[in-house]
Amino acid sequence: MSRSLKRFTVRGVMALLFVLAVLLHVGRTAYRAASIRDKHFHTYVLSREHEFPASGVAAAGSPFWPRFWRGLLGMPCAGPGFCRVNRFPPGWAYLLETCELEHPEIAWRPNPYTVGWSHTQAQKELEERLKEIYAARERVQVLFDGF
Ligand SMILES: [Zn+2]
Repeated sequence: MSRSLKRFTVRGVMALLFVLAVLLHVGRTAYRAASIRDKHFHTYVLSREHEFPASGVAAAGSPFWPRFWRGLLGMPCAGPGFCRVNRFPPGWAYLLETCELEHPEIAWRPNPYTVGWSHTQAQKELEERLKEIYAARERVQVLFDGF
């Protein structure tokens, strides 16, 4: 037996396999976390000063790092808890923002090529209420402009 083969001990091979397994797990988790391109919907009620309130919808992607860390611990890489809501610029009020990952009932996907969404009942009620307030404010402004 050659001298180089004698250096391989059972302990050494086990340590090598352990390191390879850890590297393989980290690489596989990073690949899985990066390959998930699950665009999903956020619905909200948009309110901004001097603008009429409206409901809106936006597509959002899941951030990489939360998926990676959870995948590293053996937890699912997709699902609720991966999005941060209210991440819009200051000055814009995106009220009652709802993420599809946490509220799957807001999205409607009958097949892979068709997608729809709906706002929650609370969002619809808030939008109507804000529109009433805005209209009342406009009426008061018209009264004051008449003087
Ligand atoms: Zn989301």
